[in-house]
Amino acid sequence: MKTAVFPGSFDPITLGHESIVRRALPLFDHIIVAIGVNQDKAGYFPLGKRLEWIKAVFSDCPSVSVESYNGLTVDFCKKMNASHLIRGLRTSADFEFERSVAHVNSRLSQSVETVFLLTQPEYVMITSSIVREVHKYGGDISQFIPRSIRID
Ligand code: ADP
Repeated sequence: MKTAVFPGSFDPITLGHESIVRRALPLFDHIIVAIGVNQDKAGYFPLGKRLEWIKAVFSDCPSVSVESYNGLTVDFCKKMNASHLIRGLRTSADFEFERSVAHVNSRLSQSVETVFLLTQPEYVMITSSIVREVHKYGGDISQFIPRSIRID
């Protein structure tokens, strides 16, 4: 059974995240969308809500599950018997950052391989931080988030 972890803050999940997971479905038997919890920094949206939204978005995908974790992503992968990490790449800046993270992760654990999927062009400008900013000032975020959820 080939298991992959798609880690992130998902604060909140966006159309870009959804697209990455759906495109990775044929590659893995099981995909765990995993919210990394940062002890020092509370999220903008509550963790319970973020988990609930991701579950709703992938309710039609039996091979997708949703978890949260503390600590190192590679340790969570080991715990879940995951052989792969999935990351999305929007821009060259993402690439530079993700390359360092992937290299560090491969030093920490040789048993976890990172795979990158390019963002679809129409989602390149969508980031969770922009969605939070629009939400904070009362703007309409529905065009940036999956159609199956509502965030008031
Ligand atoms: P982090 O908190 O680690 O930045 P995010 O929750 O923002 O995590 O994103 C998790 C993953 O989803 C990252 O690999 C990121 O590159 C990817 N991602 C974020 N936004 C998009 C998008 N619009 N299209 C495709 N992938 C994205």
